[in-house]
Amino acid sequence: MAQHLAAQGKEVTVVDRLSPAQGSTAASTAMLQWEIDTSLVDLSDLYGFETAARIYRQSLLAVRGLGAQVQLLGLPCAWRYRDALYLAAVGSDGERVRAECKARQQAGLPSELLEPGRLKDMFGITRPAAIASPGAAECDPVCLSQASLEHALRHGAKLIHGDVTAYDFDSKGARVALADGIEIEGDTLILATGYTMPPFVKAEVQKMSASWGCVTATQTPLGFWRGGALIWEDDTPYLYARTTSDGRILVGGEDEAIDDPAERDAVSDAKAAALHAKLEGVWGLPLPPFESVWSAAFSETEDGMPLIGPVPGCPNAYAAYGYGGNGITYSFLASRMIGEMLAGCGQPWFESFALDRPIPSK
Ligand SMILES: Cc1cc2nc3c(=O)[nH]c(=O)nc-3n(C[C@H](O)[C@H](O)[C@H](O)COP(=O)(O)OP(=O)(O)OC[C@H]3O[C@@H](n4cnc5c(N)ncnc54)[C@H](O)[C@@H]3O)c2cc1C
Repeated sequence: MAQHLAAQGKEVTVVDRLSPAQGSTAASTAMLQWEIDTSLVDLSDLYGFETAARIYRQSLLAVRGLGAQVQLLGLPCAWRYRDALYLAAVGSDGERVRAECKARQQAGLPSELLEPGRLKDMFGITRPAAIASPGAAECDPVCLSQASLEHALRHGAKLIHGDVTAYDFDSKGARVALADGIEIEGDTLILATGYTMPPFVKAEVQKMSASWGCVTATQTPLGFWRGGALIWEDDTPYLYARTTSDGRILVGGEDEAIDDPAERDAVSDAKAAALHAKLEGVWGLPLPPFESVWSAAFSETEDGMPLIGPVPGCPNAYAAYGYGGNGITYSFLASRMIGEMLAGCGQPWFESFALDRPIPSK
């Protein structure tokens, strides 16, 4: 957000109470997919095919846009383009995945259905069906975030280390006060504060969840993991996994709505064991133990869509959060959407991301 607005010539002040990129970004598995948490079929059931397809196409453009930005600005973040491989659940008949692929192709999205024989030949994996989708990527999320912020600072943005404790806004502008007494005044307040939003930011569709991440030590070449595909599956709770540029295996998932960090820690061993067993099951191969396991909170929404736009009832205040498992893709989209809103160029499709949209019913 800061990078984009500073590059547009806006006067930007970033306030962070942690070192930059030490929030949920540091916990991220950074699978940069244009496929979102809610399948196109399920999103079509909620909002109709045309709206759902447009949202998916925006997501595809967001990954492309972020990749172009990384290249153009030379952001050092171990960016690598990858295919994403979406596996049908073990024991399913694969029909949900076949229907999903058909819907994506109707929407003009670059997805290819792999039946079991082809899936085995191409990826060495046995499942009832899978979808291979080019155009995804992986990166080091901390490096990406810090390099983007450094770019913003080089273009005139200011960074203040501090805890924002009070907010005030009206039709003339916005003001914040920090715990150490500093006050900052501007035209606009943009809250990109991850899952810790101030109490006046409320969204009916938002819910809190938690996810677990695990990583192995550096391995000898991972030849069985063909093409370094980003792997995830049509299952609940699901598994997502990738390799890293320094030859590790990075796995996440087992999402569960546990708020309390101590409670999360208490189940971390069980979650890691479940993820390890699931990943071994993907190829039917023994895999090395995890070197590190962590959990983190994140906020998601009932429809899998992020919350991006004006904060209802708060003039000159905007928020971008509720990203679920696509936070990095969505943060790029949020920067462009809010940039357009500030320029008075909001588009009708932005409404799909509004904070005050109701909980959808089928
Ligand atoms: C385990 C896990 C796995 C994930 N995997 C993926 C993935 O594979 N792909 C993907 O795209 N996304 C993934 N995500 C989501 C993605 O990482 C996040 O949505 C994204 O990093 C959020 O970035 P952010 O900058 O909005 O929030 P954060 O990184 O949380 O940063 C918010 C910042 O706001 C600051 N802040 C908050 N309140 C205040 C205040 N009052 N005053 C001052 N500063 C404040 C915090 O200090 C923090 O630095 C995952 C998330 C988790 C937790």
